[in-house]
Amino acid sequence: MLVFEAGTTSKMDIVKLTPATKDYLWGGHKLKAMGISAPSEKIAEAWELSFNQDGPSLIATGPDQGKRLMDVATEKDLGSIPSSFRFFPVLIKLIDAAENLSVQVHPSDEYALKNEGQYGKTEMWYVIASEPHAGLYIGFKKKTSPKEVEAAIAAGSITDLLNFVEVHPGETYFIKAGTVHAIGRGVTVMEIQQNSTLTYRLFDYDRLDKDGNKRELHIAKALQVLDYGPYRQPHFKKPLIGCSSYFVSSLGEAAKDKIIAATDRSFASITIVGEGKGTFSNIPYRLGDTFFVPSGHVGEFKGTGRYVKTELLPEKRLIGIDIGGTSIKGALVSTEGKILSRFAFPVDHAKPQEAIIEELARSINEVLNKNSLWPIDILGIGIGCPGSINSKTGRCDYSNNLQWKDLPIRKLIQKRTGIKTRIANDANAAILGEVRFGAAREFENVVLLTLGTGVGGGLYLNGRLYEGKDSKGAELGHATLVMDGRLCTCGRKGCVEAYCSVSALIKDTQEAMEQDRGSLMWASSKNNLKFVDGLTAFECAKRCDGSAQKVVDRYIKYLGEACLSYINIFRPDAIILGGGLSGQKEALTSPLRKYLEKEQFGFGGERSPAVEILVSKLGNDAGILGAAALLLP
Ligand SMILES: [Zn+2]
Repeated sequence: MLVFEAGTTSKMDIVKLTPATKDYLWGGHKLKAMGISAPSEKIAEAWELSFNQDGPSLIATGPDQGKRLMDVATEKDLGSIPSSFRFFPVLIKLIDAAENLSVQVHPSDEYALKNEGQYGKTEMWYVIASEPHAGLYIGFKKKTSPKEVEAAIAAGSITDLLNFVEVHPGETYFIKAGTVHAIGRGVTVMEIQQNSTLTYRLFDYDRLDKDGNKRELHIAKALQVLDYGPYRQPHFKKPLIGCSSYFVSSLGEAAKDKIIAATDRSFASITIVGEGKGTFSNIPYRLGDTFFVPSGHVGEFKGTGRYVKTELLPEKRLIGIDIGGTSIKGALVSTEGKILSRFAFPVDHAKPQEAIIEELARSINEVLNKNSLWPIDILGIGIGCPGSINSKTGRCDYSNNLQWKDLPIRKLIQKRTGIKTRIANDANAAILGEVRFGAAREFENVVLLTLGTGVGGGLYLNGRLYEGKDSKGAELGHATLVMDGRLCTCGRKGCVEAYCSVSALIKDTQEAMEQDRGSLMWASSKNNLKFVDGLTAFECAKRCDGSAQKVVDRYIKYLGEACLSYINIFRPDAIILGGGLSGQKEALTSPLRKYLEKEQFGFGGERSPAVEILVSKLGNDAGILGAAALLLP
């Protein structure tokens, strides 16, 4: 429940608001020129919709004129969703920067609630005006590290690492918590932010305040919360311009949309962000004006101009499902890849295939119930399934592991849940997970190999998932490595899978043990070949067992040769190794890198740039997160 004091007066009507103004040193004259009045000469910020004690917005029209909105609005006026927050969760401002603002970062809710006892901050900007070449810093140009950032701050060169964007009126920028940013001089924006004061300053251009002191920096905390990856602007579908766990904002034209409704779930805030004039609900408006539309009310535009509508509807969630040979795992996932609630159940192979899908649908409906969510709160269900999965028809044509055949999974799940569903081969889903949320975030061309019972493959080429005809491509495990070689599960001979899967590694380990009775591998597997697993040889090689080392060397050579073929065909930025064996991390990647460095060359004898060899960052969650990522644009 809200801890701010909601008023108890009778239900409100639509009102225009008077902002609280702030005259920070870096402010300019543009907000005054827009008609906002203030006792100061300059205005840095106008807090348009504010329930904040440090600058509450006032009601400008109607019977409650002059009163603070926070004192007048009842829970009924705010709607059912806002009243479920601990604090009033948003603050909408106009900001006019005549000088550069400091380079700063805001923490996530998770960090802030744990360490600071308040919410973190995600924010967004709509550019109202900009001088020529004015812009913003958002995020880093390329992947960096705490060390590099700390050194750059000390050297006063942090802005060299930052991604500078020249901005133009009408553009929007979304600044997720953890993203380093600074508004540059000559930029006027409307800002929608989570109502939090937590700002960690990294750099302030060595400026002095009016008392001759430098403002405090918060470098240690900033280094803990920074997102060090390269900046990527999230993509929102029109008319949406941004959404977080707290708010949803969309952009519209007064002349086109005319009727604006606030649902029973949330009030709406309307800010005029473009030139134009007219009336809204018979109240005259101009650029910079903000209206409060109480929950359940409808307002009408008569006039022109662009506006931004903000409501407190929480961000939609995703559901990711990872179907495996022995169990089905699923989770409710945020669009930022955070797992919010999990479920799992074993696959009963004695049951008919349709009954298993029925059980999955039931589990999905249960997780919605448990989290008080409706199908409308879910962006979609993504399913990763082993086998031959046609992502266009939504069917599992055949799955060897599950013994499923011609199973219309998408249709069955959509029918039982009422939620849009997408399905893909599990390795194809996993690569999307790594690209969206994991080890491959900055890459456009990625090859994924999952080293498990078999060898799964995934291809992400030119920034898109590549599935091939009928989604049957990317079977990298069934490329031939040795002509007329070992028999593969697919019935052919010499496939990569027959040499590089964990099953193949186990067989090789067992053979080496039979030839060397004194090997450490016996002791580490309870003197029983049955207890040998994919780690046996790797672990014993670390302890200098000669036979184990030979097994590992040979395995690295097989895997290296396979990778060389993929490199020559696809020339990826990176190869990501997933599956059980990727838990070996450096013990796996370091010798593989060495092998590739030695063997990798370009045509004409020229050495080509090295391909990054990385292990999956999402581990056991790659399947769930990758499946959820199938729903993202
Ligand atoms: Zn094969």
